[in-house]
Amino acid sequence: MRACVDIGGTKVAVSLALPGNDTLLARQSEPTAKTGHNDAVAQQVLRLIDAACVAIGVSSSAIESVGVSSAGPFVLNNGCIELATPNICGGLAGPARGLPNDWMTAPIEAPLRERFARVRVENDAVAALEAERRWGALQGLDHCAYVTWSTGVGVGLCVDGRPLRGKNGNAGHAGHTFVSDDDNRDALCGCGNVGDVEGLIAGNAIARRFGQPAEGLFKAAVAGEPEAVRTTDALCRVMGRTLYNLVATLDLQAISLGGSVFWHNRDFLLPRLQAHIDGHLAPLTRGVRLHAAGLGDKVGDYAALALVD
Ligand SMILES: [Zn+2]
Repeated sequence: MRACVDIGGTKVAVSLALPGNDTLLARQSEPTAKTGHNDAVAQQVLRLIDAACVAIGVSSSAIESVGVSSAGPFVLNNGCIELATPNICGGLAGPARGLPNDWMTAPIEAPLRERFARVRVENDAVAALEAERRWGALQGLDHCAYVTWSTGVGVGLCVDGRPLRGKNGNAGHAGHTFVSDDDNRDALCGCGNVGDVEGLIAGNAIARRFGQPAEGLFKAAVAGEPEAVRTTDALCRVMGRTLYNLVATLDLQAISLGGSVFWHNRDFLLPRLQAHIDGHLAPLTRGVRLHAAGLGDKVGDYAALALVD
């Protein structure tokens, strides 16, 4: 039996899967624990795993491996991953952020290892990349990326058949790379950067910068409203160049895209983003394709499953 754990800033979800069967069972979900001691998220995950086991009538001792797909970034403590996620750990940005805790980190790997022999924690975009390589739009590709354009912007990268991790498992935080020297405070990212990709075009930034949710803005652009067309062209320029930069840096074959902002507007966005790849430095970009995620809006559900055999 495998346990699949998805940790986000809003909710925690746990499912089980039988060996050799990729159907997700007994899904349990709760708002992410953010009060009490900083091991509250880990304790919540353990409790939800137990609840999932009860739901299908098995003992939690039957669980051989646990895959955790989580929002990052991560820090290592004695070799075990702890979450330093701005939307979970209130101590990072201080009281102004409004979270009901002062955690600097939330331990996750160590508490799970106390109960389970095999535990693998990965950034949620890296886990989604693995899911897309296994079941989705990136099957058979050794040089590829998964990009989520959602409330935030996340990236998972694979070169020469190897998913990239980095010193603390944080490779792919390209959403926090600077793309503008604009010091306008409306481009303030939750990470503290001003003018990074996420601060400019993530779902939360669109709502803040343009006074309406992404959904309304793209709807107006599809209808041809000039101001909305100009604004969405500017958003596509930032994301399109980010994708081009990934291709140019890593010599990628393809990029799969998901996340709510992309997914709900994929027919509009895909050709516009592809246009920022095509024609630039042809030896690097010829034949490079952008794809809508093959797993569709189920990428998140399969991400943790991709981490456990
Ligand atoms: Zn940032």
